[in-house]
Amino acid sequence: MPSRQSSICVFCGARAGTNPAHTEAARAMGRAIAANEWRLVYGAGDVGLMGEVARAAQTAGASSLGVIPTHLLALEVGKRDLTQFIVTENMHERKKVMFMNSDAIVVLPGGAGSLDEFFEVLTWAQIGLHEKPIFLLNVEGYWQPLIALLDHIIAEGFASATLRGQFRVIDTIEALTPALKTALS
Ligand code: AMP
Repeated sequence: MPSRQSSICVFCGARAGTNPAHTEAARAMGRAIAANEWRLVYGAGDVGLMGEVARAAQTAGASSLGVIPTHLLALEVGKRDLTQFIVTENMHERKKVMFMNSDAIVVLPGGAGSLDEFFEVLTWAQIGLHEKPIFLLNVEGYWQPLIALLDHIIAEGFASATLRGQFRVIDTIEALTPALKTALS
C-alpha cells in the first residue's frame, strides 16, 4: 500500500520583508515541498512570503491546502486556485484546521502573525499536546533575536531547558529538506 502523503504547514510573513533572501527562501521552500511530493498547508494568502511559497510550490507541481478566515479573504488575497481552499469563520478555526492537517511545521521569516502561530504550536508541544516537529528557518539569522529571547526565558527560570528541544533551528532549505525527511520517517 502506498504511504500517505506528508503535509508541511508553513507559517510565514504576509509581507515579503526587505531582504530578498527571504523571498528566495520562500520560493525554495515551495520547490522543496513539490520535489519531495509533500503537500503544502498554509494560510491561503497570495501576498508576501505566503504567496511566494504557494506559487513556487504550485508551479513545481505540489498539491496544496489553504485555510483562510472570511475576514481576510480580501486583505490577504485568498488564493482560490489551490488544490483545496477552505474558508473558516475565524482565526482560531484557521489555525486548528491547518494544524490538524499537518505532519510538520516550518516557520519562515514573518511578523507578529507568524510569531503567534509559532508560539501556539510551541506551547502546545511544551504542555504535551502534540509531538509534530517544528522547524524555525533562520534565514540569514532573521530569528536570532527570538532564539535569544527564548534562551533568556530559560536562563531566568520561566521555562524548562527542554523548551529549546521542542523546535529546531535550521539556516537553509538545503539543510531543512533532509531534516524534514528524517522527522517525517
Ligand atoms: P505576519 O507574520 O504578521 O505577516 O502574519 C502571517 C500570517 O499570520 C497572516 O496570514 C496573518 O493573517 C496570520 N495571523 C496574524 N495574526 C494572527 C493571529 N492572531 N493568529 C493567527 N494567525 C495570525
